[in-house]
Amino acid sequence: STSPAELLHRRGAAFATVQEHYYDEPPRIERGWRHHLVSTDGRVYLDMVNNVTPLGHAHPRVERAVARQLRRLNTNSRFHYASVVEFTERLAALLPTPLDTVFLVNSGSEAVDLALRLAIGATGHHDVVALREAYHGWTYASDAVSTSIADNPNALSSRPSWVHTVDSPNPYRGRLRGADAVGYAADAVRVVDELAASGRPAGAFVSESFYGNAGAVALPDGYLRQVYAAVRRHGGLTIADEIQVGYGRLGTWFWGFEQQDVVPDIVTVAKAMGNGHPLGAVITSQAVAERYRDQGYFFSSTGGSPVSSVAGLTVLDVLRDEDLQGNAVRVGGHLRDRLRALADRHALIGAVHGSGLYLGVELVRDRDTLEPAPEETAELCDRMLELGVVVQPTGDHLNVLKIKPPLCIDRPAADFFADTLDRALT
Ligand code: PMP
Repeated sequence: STSPAELLHRRGAAFATVQEHYYDEPPRIERGWRHHLVSTDGRVYLDMVNNVTPLGHAHPRVERAVARQLRRLNTNSRFHYASVVEFTERLAALLPTPLDTVFLVNSGSEAVDLALRLAIGATGHHDVVALREAYHGWTYASDAVSTSIADNPNALSSRPSWVHTVDSPNPYRGRLRGADAVGYAADAVRVVDELAASGRPAGAFVSESFYGNAGAVALPDGYLRQVYAAVRRHGGLTIADEIQVGYGRLGTWFWGFEQQDVVPDIVTVAKAMGNGHPLGAVITSQAVAERYRDQGYFFSSTGGSPVSSVAGLTVLDVLRDEDLQGNAVRVGGHLRDRLRALADRHALIGAVHGSGLYLGVELVRDRDTLEPAPEETAELCDRMLELGVVVQPTGDHLNVLKIKPPLCIDRPAADFFADTLDRALT
C-alpha cells in the first residue's frame, strides 16, 4: 500500500499548496471509532480536534441510517420527502421563538454566506460589523467577515469596504484586558453608532457567541446584549455563528448565545449536524426569511437531501440517547480541572479557557506580559502527535491548544490527554 510519504507527495501535487496539512509528517489515517483514529501502520491516536463528529467516528447508528437511506433514495431537496421535513422541524424546535424557519445547506461557509444575504436583503443595509480574530468561512462573503490574522495575514488590511471590524472581546488578552462587558462592548457600539451617523447603518452584526476562534474564551458577560441592542437600534440584524460552539459542545448550553442570554435574529449551524456528513443550516424568523423573496429564488441542490436529513435526524437522536451534552459537562469539567492543575506546575500554561468539551490551553512565555508562545505550541503539538494525541493550535497568535474532541470522549481518554500534555510539557 502507499506509504504516508508517497501519499503526501501525491496530495501536494494534486492540491493547491494553500491546502497544506497541519503536520509536516501527518500519519496516514485509515479509520476511526469513537474518539480514536487509527493510522495505516496500526497506531491509535486520541482525536482531540474533531468537532465534526460529535457522536464519535463511524457511529453505527449513523452508518446504518445513512446506508438504509442511500439504498432507497438520495436526490436534491426539490422533492417532497418526509425525513427532510421531519429534520427541519426537529432543528427549528431546538431554537427559541421567533426562530422557526430553516434553510438547509451543505456547510458552514454556505450558512454564513446565506445569513449575510438574508440580513442585507431584509434590512436593505449593506454594511456588516464583525469581530477581529474571527473565522466564518471561505466563500466570498463569509471570507470577507473572517478577520483572523492567523488564517490570513492580510485579513485586516484587505477587508472589503462594507466590512467593519471591532475589538476582539477576548477577556484574557483583548486590547481592553481587564475591562468589563461595557468596556468591551463600547468599541462595537461606537462603530455601529458611527456607521448609522454616516448614513450607512449596519445591516448585520456577525459573531460567534462564545469566542471559539479566539481560543475558546467566553465573551464577557453581557457583551452580546449590549452590542445587539445597538445594532437593532439602527435597524440591523444580529447573526450568531454557532458552527463551532453550538449543538451541545459547551456542555451547560446547547447554543453559545444562551450563555449570553440573547436571542439572535439569524443563527448559522453546520459541522456537528451530520457527524461528518455535509450539512449546514440557517435558522431565522419567518419575517426575515420572507424578505429573501426580493432577491429571488433559493435552491441548494444537495443541501438538505434525504440522506443529509437522515444523518441530521440520527445525530439528534444519538445526542439525546447517549446524553452527549451531559457527557460534555462531566468529562469536560473533569478535563478542565486536570488542565488547570497542570497550570500550577507548568509556567508555560497562561490560562485554561472554555466550557464543556470546548477548551483552550493558552501558552505564554510570561504570565504578566502574556507574550504568546507560538513556537512552543507548535513544538508541543508535534510532541503530542508522537505520543499519540492529535491536538492543534488556534487564536490570532496560534498559541492556544484547541480542545474539541468528539463529545463521546470518556474520562480515561481525558486523563490520557492530561497525562500526555504533562509529559510533553515536561
Ligand atoms: N464559522 C465558524 C465559526 C467555523 O469555525 C467554520 C469552520 N471552521 C466555519 C464558519 C466554516 O464552516 P465550513 O468549513 O463548514 O465551511
